[in-house]
Amino acid sequence: MSNCKHFAICGLTDEADPEAGLCILHSQKPDKAQEAFRKALDSHRAKSVDYRLVLFPTTIFFGNTVFEKRCNFSGAVFSEIADFASATFSGGADFNGTSFKEGAVFHNAVFDGDVHFTMSMFTERASFFDVSFHGEAQFYSVTFTKEVSFAGASFKKSGSFAGSTFHMGGDFTGARFEQGDATFTGSSFLGRTRFSSPPDESVGLLFAKDVEVAFRRVRVDPPDALEFIGVDLSKCSFWETDLRGMRFLGVQWVRMPWTRLSKGWRNGIYDEVLLRAQEIKPYAKVETLYRQLKKNYEEQRDYERAGDFHYGEKEMRLRNPKTSPGLRLFLWLYKCASGYGERWLPPIVWSLCLLLLGSAGYLYCGLRVAGRLLPFEWDMWNAVVDGVPMWVRSLLFSLRTMTLLKPDDMVPLGWGSVVQTVQNLLGPILLGLAALAIRQRLRR
Ligand SMILES: [Zn+2]
Repeated sequence: MSNCKHFAICGLTDEADPEAGLCILHSQKPDKAQEAFRKALDSHRAKSVDYRLVLFPTTIFFGNTVFEKRCNFSGAVFSEIADFASATFSGGADFNGTSFKEGAVFHNAVFDGDVHFTMSMFTERASFFDVSFHGEAQFYSVTFTKEVSFAGASFKKSGSFAGSTFHMGGDFTGARFEQGDATFTGSSFLGRTRFSSPPDESVGLLFAKDVEVAFRRVRVDPPDALEFIGVDLSKCSFWETDLRGMRFLGVQWVRMPWTRLSKGWRNGIYDEVLLRAQEIKPYAKVETLYRQLKKNYEEQRDYERAGDFHYGEKEMRLRNPKTSPGLRLFLWLYKCASGYGERWLPPIVWSLCLLLLGSAGYLYCGLRVAGRLLPFEWDMWNAVVDGVPMWVRSLLFSLRTMTLLKPDDMVPLGWGSVVQTVQNLLGPILLGLAALAIRQRLRR
């Protein structure tokens, strides 16, 4: 009989499993003597918080336990239910590579220090309902084979689920990420997973204002598996994630100004904000995100927000140096004229400018009444013909030219015919753009 291979942890001999060289706590035999295990565990609990590599053969009850020091369950195996309900981990805990073969119950637990669940495996349901994570909560590369609930959980410092897989989905209803980051980069959502803000807004939002959220390179299968309800996504990056099928209900996007001078704003995606700070600017990827969001909102029949994302998509195309100069010029004109077909005010303002400039042009170049000769040396700007001032006549002439009403009561002189041609060309285009933008905004 010699010492257990993990003597440093357990301080026991390999009496229980001499072939493997392991003690009763560490023996990997699932049918090891339960009574002997329980006794050994009780005496271990009295003096240590190191449970590394221990195999728990029966349901284990750590409910309401207060772990004064940082405890370590790395590499441990729970063959039956692991019950940590309402436990307090004063110094945090390590569950790296831990295997939970039956249910894992952590609801109402409190982690005062950092907790690491890196590469742990939950074979059955797991509940983190109402858990308080006061330190960092790391769930890197965790496998949740069945449903997992983080409903009502609060992440006071940061929460990371990078590279984790939610096979049957998860529930983050009413969870709160209060500070630091919320990271889901590289995760897979293979079942319905809901991120929904607490029903009572006084409790706070799911993602607090300053929390940076990342759902980058996320795999969502089926495409509608992920849903966000009433969540603030104004600091959420969706880099290289397919947004077409996701469900967005009443979420808040980041407010982007229409133009540098404009006070108005459109709904945008946080990746566009991040892009500005980057040295290499991958416009095409943000453009793709906007295109997918546009499609998503069009299918929801929310055309107003779809229009905002259309604007973002075109804006990325315009700023992308890889876009051909010809297309960029066209996009730039389209943007100036009507905000890529989404804004009705600019084309109306341009139309008014064209109307006034046109009538000034006719007065400057000369305008005569059809069938009559122009009197010598008269002041066109102040002249009155048949009781109607010339400036009114030229304004009417300008308006009718722009709207292709072919006015034949007046004849422009000299360069006035050039003004008329320009008005004939631009007038219908600008008015058409205004009409299209209004229709776009009011579409049902
Ligand atoms: Zn041992």
